[in-house]
Amino acid sequence: MNTYIVMQGHTYQQERELGIIWSPQQDQGGLVPHSWSRMKEIQKEDRVFHYVKGFIVAISVAAGPYQTVPKPTTVQYERNKNEAGNLVRVDYHELENPLQVKANLKEILPLLPIKYSAFQENGDGNSGYLYPCNEELSIKFLDLIRDLNIYQVDEEQLELSIDNVRRTEGNTLIPVMAETESELKTKMRIDHQKFRKTLMPLWRNQCAVCGIDLPELLRASHAKPWKDSTNDERLDPYNGVILCANHDALYDHGLIAFNGQGRLFISPLINPEDYEKYGLVPNTKIRLHQENKPYMKWHKKHIFNENYKEKES
Ligand SMILES: [Zn+2]
Repeated sequence: MNTYIVMQGHTYQQERELGIIWSPQQDQGGLVPHSWSRMKEIQKEDRVFHYVKGFIVAISVAAGPYQTVPKPTTVQYERNKNEAGNLVRVDYHELENPLQVKANLKEILPLLPIKYSAFQENGDGNSGYLYPCNEELSIKFLDLIRDLNIYQVDEEQLELSIDNVRRTEGNTLIPVMAETESELKTKMRIDHQKFRKTLMPLWRNQCAVCGIDLPELLRASHAKPWKDSTNDERLDPYNGVILCANHDALYDHGLIAFNGQGRLFISPLINPEDYEKYGLVPNTKIRLHQENKPYMKWHKKHIFNENYKEKES
């Protein structure tokens, strides 16, 4: 199961009434934006978060893969009138209390991918139609939505007696959220286990930096993080390194990095007087595999924190 974010704006009500999401196939210049061609990736049971004017307002479940159809005549699209498009039938489950993205930006921002993010750094939605939503971001959305939409039992019972419509919405939303979360977590756990299993022998079952070899302390650390990796990259044993818990945390947060030769770089956020405490020796080299290089370089370029000034963030 994969998850997506659809940016609907003024077409939301009409698409919801039809139980669909829809994008044109190509723009007037004949180009196919990634956010339209992504419609073709959706499979039955995939989940979609619906974003409208600053808020996640619904979660839907795809009823099947896309179909090529003419533009639904009841939907007012500004461009590409009458052109064929990609349509996916989805079952909408509306949130009683929508989730405001900007109000939760601090928690959402670290989970946005560098490429193909649905949101900008200030929390504004991007202008495309369908974006990927990685598992970590999906689970965060579900957590935040749950806080807003699921009440204590007595409060909920009170609501139920007052408002039958709310009860219907609530009853379909809660099981969908629970099932989605459980599937996402299972997928991540299985993939992490596979990744670790293939990574361990490549690093001789020890931390590449300090040599600690107690399995309980060892982590399989992605170089190109989960949120930025394709499904294949997530499982590629060369996309990462075995590190002890401390060095894994430093690597994840971009406080250390390795270049294409495996040379250790330490962020200026760490005081050189403390290197020994952290078990870090500047300019040490770890023994990289050739296939690690592109991933290590990606991490150093995008994750490594080389600046003093970002210290407060
Ligand atoms: Zn270590």
